[in-house]
Amino acid sequence: MPKARLIDGKLAAEEIRGQTAAAAQRILAERGFPPGLAVIILGEHAASRAYVRTKTRMAAAAGFLSRQFDLPRETSESELLALIDKLNRTPEIDGIMVQLHLPPQVRTAAVIEAIAPEKDVDGFHAVNGGRLLAASPGQQSAGFVPCTPWGCQMLLRRELRNLAGREAVVVGRSNIVGKPMALLLLNENCTVTLAHSHTRELASVCRRADILVAAVGRPEFVRGDWVKQGAIVLDVGINRIAGEGGTSQLVGDVAFAEAVERAGAITPVPGGIGPMTVACLLANTALAACRRSSLELPAFALAPHADGPWA
Ligand code: NDP
Repeated sequence: MPKARLIDGKLAAEEIRGQTAAAAQRILAERGFPPGLAVIILGEHAASRAYVRTKTRMAAAAGFLSRQFDLPRETSESELLALIDKLNRTPEIDGIMVQLHLPPQVRTAAVIEAIAPEKDVDGFHAVNGGRLLAASPGQQSAGFVPCTPWGCQMLLRRELRNLAGREAVVVGRSNIVGKPMALLLLNENCTVTLAHSHTRELASVCRRADILVAAVGRPEFVRGDWVKQGAIVLDVGINRIAGEGGTSQLVGDVAFAEAVERAGAITPVPGGIGPMTVACLLANTALAACRRSSLELPAFALAPHADGPWA
């Protein structure tokens, strides 16, 4: 019998998607057309294709205009930039996302910088990064927050009565997950440690954490005895490993079977952070639509648990 409470990311994401669908209806009523999301993918990578299909399907299901651009892997950087430029100038499109990772002939930084900041619903553009950096404690960013850390923040706000003063350790410092996660936790008044591959004594650093976020990209890297008793563990990692009989299996960056014995609450993989990432992409697109059309901004948040915050 697992000791930790399981954080159901699927159920939480359904709640946020419901809020985005309500926002889409209001946006349609108020400006005459729904929020529009354009998703671009290069190449045939099966897992990336599956993510993109989920994003476009969920966007359509929430009442958004949802457009998917499937480009060949050989697409040149200038062809991709031309498409982004066109979408930047398309009024019905509020949000543009390009599925990473990109083939070697295309510079990721050039692509991210080409997306108009007001349509950058992934929150990767330097302008949106800067807005997150500039947000004061307790304030929301005036830009777009990257979807995965935003989803983590929503889950934490529901689990904890108050994040202020908690020891938070984030393992991984990518621009997509780790760095913005650390900034969000800092704005929640946590005491934040951002760990990476040069961090010394990582296990004992992790053991300090009331909130432990793993975004490393290594299967079951964070062991159970790195987890403080009662900590909240958010496992961002998605790793495909070989399973039994030639099958493959998804596992996180945390050794779940071990960590579940010590954590107070933990996200599973799959069914934890992944669904929240997609829901937050839709939420950012609804925000983009409202900002671009000067409509009242919707608020997205998870309702508290019926039995109150966990700690
Ligand atoms: P990156 O590869 O960009 O970053 C990995 C980070 O982990 C780096 O900062 C790296 O440190 C650090 N790291 C690597 N090895 C170690 C080590 N031995 N000790 C400590 N730190 C280490 O990955 P992402 O941030 O893009 O993704 C992380 C994971 O999250 C992946 O599994 C990815 O698939 C998943 N992911 C899941 C999402 C979701 O929706 N659930 C969304 C995005 C990502 P350094 O900087 O020093 O190299």
